[in-house]
Amino acid sequence: MHRVAIIRGDGIGPEICEATQQVLEATGVAFRWEEAPMGQQAARLSGSELPLESLETVRRLGLAVKGPLIAERCSGGVKIESGGSVRIYPSVNNGLRREMGAFANLRPVRGWEGISGAYGELDVVIVREITEDTYIGIEHRIDADTSEAVKRVTRQASCRVARFACDYAVRHGRRRVTAVHKANVLHLTDGLFLESVRSVVAEYPGLEFDDRMIDAACYHLIKNPRMFDVIVAPNQYGDILSDLTAGLVGSLGLAPGANFGPGVAVFEASHGAAPDIAGKGLANPISLILSGALLLDHIGEADAGERIRRAVGEVLSRGDCLTPDLGGRASTRELTAGICRRIQDGR
Ligand code: NAD
Repeated sequence: MHRVAIIRGDGIGPEICEATQQVLEATGVAFRWEEAPMGQQAARLSGSELPLESLETVRRLGLAVKGPLIAERCSGGVKIESGGSVRIYPSVNNGLRREMGAFANLRPVRGWEGISGAYGELDVVIVREITEDTYIGIEHRIDADTSEAVKRVTRQASCRVARFACDYAVRHGRRRVTAVHKANVLHLTDGLFLESVRSVVAEYPGLEFDDRMIDAACYHLIKNPRMFDVIVAPNQYGDILSDLTAGLVGSLGLAPGANFGPGVAVFEASHGAAPDIAGKGLANPISLILSGALLLDHIGEADAGERIRRAVGEVLSRGDCLTPDLGGRASTRELTAGICRRIQDGR
């Protein structure tokens, strides 16, 4: 029995979490779910978007499936008070990652037959640093017409994420690690990131290494994605590259992800809360379902994870129960039922 925290999230979060729980359970692996409300649901229940009890549940279990959380623009952030200290984070997502000590965000993006057209063979893993860069949320206003943000890069965090990317590459039989940066302009920050990644990859003689400027990386991902295998990137570039590659393979609804820290892993879709389609039964649950497959890999149930990926591939290539983002007319529940049926047929 695997005990996993469930953070249902905002917008389409509850719909795709329910779908993911059903698919994970259809594999026959036993789960016990513990609710860890965050975001708008938590604010309604307890007055806090990031309740200490929910953080404690995730910390204690070390595993969570998480729906997306709304981050209001220009809201001033989220405050946590505990042990006499006050911590303010730019968003609930950012606060959760930092409270858990998560440092690497894994986003494997691949093309799917019947869906991804010219990008059917795209197969890239993006490893994004998630503790620093411009997303630390330190901004200030100089005067009414001028603001600044701090971009922080440290050798320690850059080496840590580089090591995570290299270990992942070795474990999964991947050959090349590419560092993405803008070190020709940001010599001290992105330059340090690049130098750090280069020093870590040198410890892995079996891996090839190269680097690309962020703008060139975007161009090459579109023109020739086969140039890439594992990409390691600072926070902001990694964020943007994940949505770009999800778009190339057909939908944000196909892009899984996970955040890893010491003793904790939170599995979440790459996309946001999609408030424009929330509650309408139109959400594509596949990205969170594929994040669920990553969770199975992580807990030593890789066969079950592979069965989910196979079932998703079959449903996508048949094309008869696709959600609207993939050009179909099926509901979230119909697509989920289709995946569950295939998993059960294959058991
Ligand atoms: P979004 O990813 O929510 O949506 C972008 C577009 O993609 C929308 O048209 C949406 O309908 C569509 N889309 C996204 N996921 C889909 C799915 N599974 N199925 C079908 N269509 C899907 O991005 P946004 O609109 O910029 O952000 C909405 C909210 O989500 C914001 O508050 C943002 O801060 C938040 N957000 C949260 C996370 C997270 O929790 N990890 C990530 C990104 C954005």
